[in-house]
Amino acid sequence: MGRNVRRVAILGGGITGLSAAFYLKRHARERNMDVEVTVLEASGRLGGKVNTLRKEGFVIERGPDSFLGRKLPMLHLARDLGLLDELVGTNPQATKTYLASGGSLKPMPKGINLGIPNNLGLFARTSLVSPHGKLRALDEMRIAPREGDGDESIGAFLERRLGREMVEKIAEPLLAGIHSGDLYKLGLAATFPEFREMEKKHGSLIRGMMEAKRLAPTAGAQAAKARAEAVGGYPIPPTVFLTFRNGLSTVIEALEKHLREDGTEIRLGGEVVRLEKASAAYRLHLKDGSALEADAVLLTMPGYASLPLLAPHMELGPLGDMEYVSVANVVFAYDGKGFGHRLDGAGFLVPHSEGLTITASTWTSAKWGHTAPADKRLIRCYVGHAGDDSDVELSDEEMTDRVRSDLRTLMGLAAEPQFVEITRLRRGMPQYGIGHAEHVAAFRKRLAAALPGIFATGASFDAVGLPDCVRMGQDAAEQLLAFGE
Ligand code: FAD
Repeated sequence: MGRNVRRVAILGGGITGLSAAFYLKRHARERNMDVEVTVLEASGRLGGKVNTLRKEGFVIERGPDSFLGRKLPMLHLARDLGLLDELVGTNPQATKTYLASGGSLKPMPKGINLGIPNNLGLFARTSLVSPHGKLRALDEMRIAPREGDGDESIGAFLERRLGREMVEKIAEPLLAGIHSGDLYKLGLAATFPEFREMEKKHGSLIRGMMEAKRLAPTAGAQAAKARAEAVGGYPIPPTVFLTFRNGLSTVIEALEKHLREDGTEIRLGGEVVRLEKASAAYRLHLKDGSALEADAVLLTMPGYASLPLLAPHMELGPLGDMEYVSVANVVFAYDGKGFGHRLDGAGFLVPHSEGLTITASTWTSAKWGHTAPADKRLIRCYVGHAGDDSDVELSDEEMTDRVRSDLRTLMGLAAEPQFVEITRLRRGMPQYGIGHAEHVAAFRKRLAAALPGIFATGASFDAVGLPDCVRMGQDAAEQLLAFGE
């Protein structure tokens, strides 16, 4: 790093900020560069949304619970932190997923992937979609692709191709669950770009999905090879999702340890409230009245916290109006004796049209063996719809009652929980609207011109998954180093 960029401030101590700090220190050292890094975290703890509670023998995730193993940056980070032997996979017996329909749970229809039929024989047999809905879905193979390159909402795209019934009954609970959003507001290009690619390449999503299924064994073998290479052949579980046996906070704790040993300053309670251009650097004003100078600054907090710091210096554009969805995570711990349900699967999804408080549930102790003692059970339920925060703001008591009532209706579960843990993640899910990727690119261009040496990244910008956050941290570290060279 050049003489003019020695002090770097990283705002936000979530997975993105900590990964950025880790790789910045590491690459600077490899290149014999001298760089002082300060991580400023507003709250009293590191990790941001990653937040594991270890209680009475249970491993409870209050935010994310796992990550996609085929996305390699998280595996690289686990390797770099010496955590490969801590990785655990899902229980191979707990693969079944259910869908709430008419007040009870039905097995997720077969022959459908991400809400799109990929085996027509199996799809024809599902009772969850009416005969008319199925015929309309099959028409998809005859509908010409949309012309032009403009973005559209996922809801509009899927309705155009597969019809409204498929969107409401199948795609909405599956896809909206991933982003906790409104399918008619989420932009296709920033959330499921592969769908548009299939439409363009195969002229049909169904044909594209059937082709992907045909190629799955080859793609799977390639992914397994890449994964093995990423961890130097270390035998890690081969499952789609992975986590750490003591919870995701394991990676945060390891990052903190490495950073402190490496001389990185970590300031908890370090909320930055104003950013000022100083003569050859930037001055950051903290809520506690103190200030700090830095030659380069990386903002990794959610957009609703980072963008106001930039607004006095530049035009934010459409990103300034970005929406966020609040969600609550309600975890029930039970004694296995008298529990009264087999938990024969990974959990269930609930379409909005069912009118329930729960939007989805993970049968955590069945899916992840490490999360509960053998004689206990753990269930996690999600609450919160796009555009309506009322359920998330229910009192703890009322939320518990409503969720338990839904569990009684859907699963016949009446057991008394040993304890309940409720976590509200207000504005927890950024909503990538129509044209989001273009808005981010244009915003970054304006940022580079208005405030050279200031970078903004994190889940509000490019992607929400944990491996993507690690990758964004790695990329930001490279940008900071390149800026100083
Ligand atoms: P954050 O974790 O939000 O961290 C930002 C940090 O910035 C926070 O610690 C905050 O306190 C701090 N901060 C804010 N303002 C300031 C300020 N002014 N000054 C200094 N610091 C500030 N992803 C997966 O891959 N798998 C999952 O299973 C999964 N499940 C999820 C479940 C839920 C309920 C939610 C909400 C998200 C889930 N995600 C999942 C997404 C993933 O958890 C997030 O995208 C990711 O953790 C975001 O990390 P981040 O570091 O970018 O931001």
